[in-house]
Amino acid sequence: MTRAQELALNLADVRARVEAACVLAGREPADVNIITVTKTWPSSDIQLLAQLGVVDIGESRDQEASAKFADCGGLGLRWHFIGQFQTNKANRIARYADVVHSLDRPKAVHALEQGAALADRSITGLVQVSLDKQAGEGRAGASPDEVVDIATEIVRSPHLRLGGVMAVAPIGTDPGLAFQSLAEVSAQLREHFPEATMISAGMSEDLTEAIAHGATHLRIGSAIMGSRSYVQ
Ligand SMILES: *Cc1c(COP(=O)(O)O)cnc(C)c1O
Repeated sequence: MTRAQELALNLADVRARVEAACVLAGREPADVNIITVTKTWPSSDIQLLAQLGVVDIGESRDQEASAKFADCGGLGLRWHFIGQFQTNKANRIARYADVVHSLDRPKAVHALEQGAALADRSITGLVQVSLDKQAGEGRAGASPDEVVDIATEIVRSPHLRLGGVMAVAPIGTDPGLAFQSLAEVSAQLREHFPEATMISAGMSEDLTEAIAHGATHLRIGSAIMGSRSYVQ
């Protein structure tokens, strides 16, 4: 089997899982977008994905993403940045990212706005929420009670547009409960900002639970690309 055939089969399998989850949840598959997470995989895979009709690509490290964008920038793809980043990387991320899912502090918002202004681009920003009550300092994501303040900073940024919220289900917990909490955070945010309709939730292992709780954007890596040879 060629790599293109393998990717095509995996994509079909994931799309079937998404459709089945939508039937269970009483939702339209058209309302659930699949972002293919290509971290650790080469630019040649992104080119094959583009030929297979994939438009949304997710990357979590700036260095890797910048290099792949240089190779694949002409393919009309939408680039989603989904990883933690230091503010000194924001100028570079702003050159290629169409959507940044990982805004979890005002400083990151300000740095991305500055980068977007320099690049003269408009970027959609999501507030990453930590659903792990156990986690302390250094966790990825804002606590739920910080979300509206961070969203307000995004809305005040002329080159950013508020998309909504993003979360990763904490390891070792019930993803359904985590995504239910995220849906509540999203509903509270939309009381302030009705336009913030995006819910970025669900990965290869928990996409069914994410769809049940309103995910609009899934971030799918290994189920499409195969197992990564190193852990991020
Ligand atoms: C790697 C990654 C994914 C994809 O994970 P899979 O389990 O491979 O589907 C999704 N979201 C984030 C933030 C990631 O870093």
